[in-house]
Amino acid sequence: MKRKRLYSLSISLLGLAALIACWLVVPGYTVKKAEAPPPSRPNIVFIISDDHTSQAISSYGSKLAKTPNIDRIAKEGAILYNNVVANSICGPSRATLLTGQFSHRNGYKLNEKVFDINQPVFTEELQKNGYQTAWIGKMHLGSLPHGFDYLNILPGHGHYYNSDFVDSNNKTTRHMGYVTDVVTSLSTDWLAHRDTAKPFFLVVGHKATHREWLPAAEDLGAYDNVTFPLPPNFYDNYKGRLAAQKQDMSIDKTMRLPEDLKVHVDYEKNGTYNRFTPEQKKPFYDYYETKISKEFDEKKLSGKALVEWKYQRYMKDYLSVANSLDRNIGKLLDYLDKSGLSKNTVVIYTSDQGFYLGEHGWFDKRWIYEESLKTPFVIRYPGVIKPGSRVNQVVSNVDWAPTLLNLTGTTIPAYIQGESFLPVLKGEKKNWRDQAYYHYYEYPQPHHVSPHFGLRTNQYTIARFYGPDNFWELYDIKKDPQNMHNLYGQKGYETITADLKTKLVQQIKKYEDDEALKILESN
Ligand code: CA
Repeated sequence: MKRKRLYSLSISLLGLAALIACWLVVPGYTVKKAEAPPPSRPNIVFIISDDHTSQAISSYGSKLAKTPNIDRIAKEGAILYNNVVANSICGPSRATLLTGQFSHRNGYKLNEKVFDINQPVFTEELQKNGYQTAWIGKMHLGSLPHGFDYLNILPGHGHYYNSDFVDSNNKTTRHMGYVTDVVTSLSTDWLAHRDTAKPFFLVVGHKATHREWLPAAEDLGAYDNVTFPLPPNFYDNYKGRLAAQKQDMSIDKTMRLPEDLKVHVDYEKNGTYNRFTPEQKKPFYDYYETKISKEFDEKKLSGKALVEWKYQRYMKDYLSVANSLDRNIGKLLDYLDKSGLSKNTVVIYTSDQGFYLGEHGWFDKRWIYEESLKTPFVIRYPGVIKPGSRVNQVVSNVDWAPTLLNLTGTTIPAYIQGESFLPVLKGEKKNWRDQAYYHYYEYPQPHHVSPHFGLRTNQYTIARFYGPDNFWELYDIKKDPQNMHNLYGQKGYETITADLKTKLVQQIKKYEDDEALKILESN
């Protein structure tokens, strides 16, 4: 540790000497104009929400939502347009964040499993490099992993109102209030009481915007005056896509009126609602029971009118929950500004995966299709990442751990399967990997999405579905970003298909996904 500190001191002295040399040599150059070099070990605030998708973020082009604080991070740093995940569900995404490994390697393939804490996690490397580490809020791993000096996490999904939190000593405490506010205040409390002699890595894990979308009292009705346009493929007939024909995740058939849309909720028996205080229950009940449920009863909807009513309600609830998320990101950014931390702190905002907002008629995630494969990712690093940077290269959440290690000058251990994309963020590396590997497993519950693995390249997605049905899909993302036209087996695509299959086998072998290899070899 001491050696590392001495090393960074000598680097700083060298930097200072270089500045003075410039000042002496270059006419008109003054030290006053030069900015201080970025610290060799910056702090990191890593904000990760749940199911919050790019289509709901204005800096990604959404006209549906206002997200000024996420947009601020993007404007002051970089926005990534092709950050994909390796397995598009909650727990596995976070297990990949911690290990820098694909699900087949870290063992956490399905939600509601227990993350094996006897495996290394990248935050242990940060600790060895002198960092203090903390994770506050949603983690969803079913266990308390090593590598954190401080944990205060939601058990499972937690609750939107008055959620329990479990700390590093496995002690459970109920925190009254709205969970997004509570996670933020626990985070700023931790920052205020941290050991200021050390740099820090803090994960702020939000429950928002996970199902069942309970807004904070101040956001109830926030979108009541908005009518959301139906996505062009809302009434998708799934032609040429067998797995899509068999899924159970549509707004029409799967989305539930009471549990998801709060129509005639049982406030006494349901564990989500019977933890409300009378003060919390009143505005919620007045809005959902007295206003929305009454409106629903009076309309006596059926067919398309019912589906479209559900879609409108879904959008209003989802975006109202997102309002609180963005507002709380703003609170955290303000805290960093006021405490003088902003200039030495990398701020990242991301989600565990993307989500469907009515595209294909769906909610939820899971698919290698664009909306759920990609996840929002914005990063601000003053002095290192140029403000307003737009990154189009395909990177993956398997690359997050090595990138964070690289940002902090920490050695990347051999067990990590991803690669640091810090050079990409700096605009330095021209020959970055042009594909990302994907493997989804969870079947048949909860949504009957067939397991599949595949590749997403700059232009194409190729996927091999298996389980009940064995078949391939191929999409030209540039021509068909909605993944509506399966080109597999179509005339004119023989060469590109063969090429992508070769690349897929190479990646499967590189990452040692033996299960996928066996499936390919068996038929
Ligand atoms: Ca999720």
